[in-house]
Amino acid sequence: MTEIPTASRGGYQPPDPIEVPPLYSWPPRPVAILRWITTGLLFPWGLVFIALALASWHFLTPSLDRMASLEIWWVALIWLRNAALLTLVAGGLHWWLYIRRAQGQAYKYHTRWLATDSRKFLWGDQVRDNMFWSLVSGCTIWSLYESVTWWAYANDLIPQMEWSAAPLYLAIMTIGVFFWSTIHFYLHHRALHWPPLFRCSHELHHRNVNTGPWTGIAMHPLEHIAYFSVFLLWWVVPVHPVIVLLTGFYQGISPAVSHSGFDQLMVNGRTQVKAGDLFHQLHHQYFNVNYGNTPTPLDKLFGTWLDGRPESLAAFKQRWRSQRRQAGVPNT
Ligand SMILES: [Zn+2]
Ligand SMILES: [Zn+2]
Repeated sequence: MTEIPTASRGGYQPPDPIEVPPLYSWPPRPVAILRWITTGLLFPWGLVFIALALASWHFLTPSLDRMASLEIWWVALIWLRNAALLTLVAGGLHWWLYIRRAQGQAYKYHTRWLATDSRKFLWGDQVRDNMFWSLVSGCTIWSLYESVTWWAYANDLIPQMEWSAAPLYLAIMTIGVFFWSTIHFYLHHRALHWPPLFRCSHELHHRNVNTGPWTGIAMHPLEHIAYFSVFLLWWVVPVHPVIVLLTGFYQGISPAVSHSGFDQLMVNGRTQVKAGDLFHQLHHQYFNVNYGNTPTPLDKLFGTWLDGRPESLAAFKQRWRSQRRQAGVPNT
């Protein structure tokens, strides 16, 4: 069978199965939960995006007074900031992993490199195609949602909260961004797999079976509208603008890391930093599993959780084959 590639064809296979975070185990395991929040959820990338949100609020965002009327100059500045930061992260990872090939194939999920001659992609080139959809459509729709949020803040149309008024609440909401983003992702992503919606939008993202950093938000504009609607929660729930920025960066930039195609980044040939997300990588390979992300394990609840072990993949393939047989589709 050729449709379902497996790790046995040479890509990196992490030694441990993907497990549901300790947050959902019973009885509660507070030490394990704390360790998971600090190392699994926050370190290092969550902290990077929190730092980026703080720095952007202080140095890379016009003051709310100046955003009280919607004007092209400041919306363009927001776009420029978002596009520059995405390019820094996605472009940096692409340069390190795919142009310099600094760690060769070490920790790479697929042995193939990104497509440079495929009719699936604009100009036949996967990276150029992915950059186009990310920057032209992705950054624009992301920046528009963000800009309208600033405009509404500046005109007191939506509530906001100062850190001095509710530090604990805002600290919880900061962590809450990671949960809200992943619940929101599961819900709209599951809907996009409904065949009519899949064909007219989500299919574009799924052209990338073998993903790279620029694949992260390489999506159809219709999908971007759904994907970045993550901001809408903050139109009714009061938070500080830093949390709005964090939402944008987590939604817009973190997929560059999770789609990097490499499970770990190696620095100096040794030090390893967590990068790719095998859970979502499996979704790109098999389509109808792992619709969500591990922090909110809705796939476990709905029976679509694939944990990445070779024996789970073999069982999944077996099921998939018999479903095809029942549907009268010949196996190849
Ligand atoms: Zn993806
Ligand atoms: Zn999908």
